Amino acid sequence: MQYRKMGNTGVEVSALGFGCMRLPVMEGQPDNCIDEARSIAMIRHAIDTGMNYIDTAYFYHHEASEPLVGKALQDGYREKVNLATKMPVFSVEKEEDFDFFLNNQLERLQTDHIDFYLLHALSLNTWKNKVLKFDLLSKMKKAREEGKIRFIGFSFHDNEEAFMEILNGFDEWDFCQIQMNYIDVENQATLRGMEAAAKKGLGVVIMEPLLGGKLANLSPQVKENLCSCRTPVEWAFDFLWNRPEVSVILSGMGSEEMVEQNLEYAGRSSIGMLDEKQLAMLDKTREVYQKMALVPCTGCAYCMPCPFGLDIPGIYEVYNQTVNDSREDTVKKYYAMDTLADACRKCRKCEGICPQHIESSTLMPVIHEKISKMKEEIEKA
Ligand code: SF4
Ligand code: SF4
Repeated sequence: MQYRKMGNTGVEVSALGFGCMRLPVMEGQPDNCIDEARSIAMIRHAIDTGMNYIDTAYFYHHEASEPLVGKALQDGYREKVNLATKMPVFSVEKEEDFDFFLNNQLERLQTDHIDFYLLHALSLNTWKNKVLKFDLLSKMKKAREEGKIRFIGFSFHDNEEAFMEILNGFDEWDFCQIQMNYIDVENQATLRGMEAAAKKGLGVVIMEPLLGGKLANLSPQVKENLCSCRTPVEWAFDFLWNRPEVSVILSGMGSEEMVEQNLEYAGRSSIGMLDEKQLAMLDKTREVYQKMALVPCTGCAYCMPCPFGLDIPGIYEVYNQTVNDSREDTVKKYYAMDTLADACRKCRKCEGICPQHIESSTLMPVIHEKISKMKEEIEKA
């Protein structure tokens, strides 16, 4: 394992961190039925191999992730890792909610302190209407004084302007967690935001390094731009490890193979590992990807459940696969779904919470129309 500086905290973190939002679940069961034995074995194996950063959140796996992590870190494992979790800012309705959530999290995680504590998924809206309104920064500082947390950070989903406002709106940030990968250099916090955070001495934690798995499963037209000397996953990780600003990359690992593969990649990572030619190749890949990209859904499922029964990420998955699948396959997959996109009642419940700011109420009718047209044309032919 390779280790990197977590900003000015004095902590050295492993290049790879375990994101606990896509753990394996029991076959045919909902997201909160985590396969405990497999997940605990995977987490412990990663720790035994030198990984020292575990990331979870109050709502991951419908609140089942933190208790699972608490169990995985028994038997001496807690002492070997930096434990990160997040305050569900969007659920805070009054100042006291902060203490309720933090105390609950400590209990679920079976620990007396959280090393890296984040305000979850900040946007300009939650920054103003939750963090500042309920004085959550004072709450964070008090929790640090009491020894309940060690370092103060935020995770982020909005644009560059919002990122800069939040970054510069508090002098005691120790770290931040941003969405970054070789496609998103101009999206969300942007590379400029990442550089500004590192310059201020913050540790930078990367999430969505594979853009919700999309960079692992590239369409042939995109993949052919990448040299086959590395796998698409390796290219995506190496783009990030190459950067001096990056402290730790989180990967939401859902299988033993994924853990093994990612640990191997992390073991050979280093700052400056890519040359100009390789970076130009990734620039070209980004251009092709962006020309073909349809809906930037990462499959995080924050928007679920839809009150009208739509499998929102599932519909986007089928739609995005139209670049790879035959028209027949798209139509078959789409019409096999329990609820079609035209069932969307435009309630917009899914929109405010979507980290990618996807406007499902506008897109769903368009998607339904496009795929139903495909069906008509196939039937006519
Ligand atoms: S806007 Fe449409 S997709 Fe989104 S929650 Fe409402 S009905 Fe579901
Ligand atoms: S639509 Fe948005 S919230 Fe829903 S799964 Fe996709 S990225 Fe996540």
